[in-house]
Amino acid sequence: MSYDTNNIFAKILRGEIPCHKVYEDEHTLAFMDVMPQADGHTLVIPKAPSRNLLDADPAALGALMATVQKVARATRQAFGAEGVLIQQFNEPAAGQTVFHLHVHILPRSTGVALKPHSGKMADHALLAQHAEKIRHALEA
Ligand code: 5GP
Repeated sequence: MSYDTNNIFAKILRGEIPCHKVYEDEHTLAFMDVMPQADGHTLVIPKAPSRNLLDADPAALGALMATVQKVARATRQAFGAEGVLIQQFNEPAAGQTVFHLHVHILPRSTGVALKPHSGKMADHALLAQHAEKIRHALEA
């Protein structure tokens, strides 16, 4: 399977469609998932193109995971979560629906159930508010 340059995250990287950005550096971008499974559900992607983890350049993974850790800490703090779930799907059989490598960051607390994967589109004003909370925690 090859990389499709017209996947939705490639379009976000090129600025062709908007996102609620929480963090960006030379190698990575983090933004809110539009169908969050939990408040604060964030996605981190490498700027280098790859379909998923299986075809990624290992050299890109260090920067990716460093951003995942940074944003996971900020997200936990911003939402007062007890823990953080990190998820990453490879190919449709494993649940992948967007074919540019991405890592899910999901704040978790005891007794708060996750909503379905790729479920309901969230209100954009709420996503903007959540992104602002995470950006604020990143600056702290
Ligand atoms: P996957 O199943 O590939 O791991 O997850 C893809 C994720 O991307 C899903 O959680 C879905 O809600 C999210 N998503 C799909 N389309 C868009 C979009 O246009 N913008 C953003 N920010 N997230 C999206």
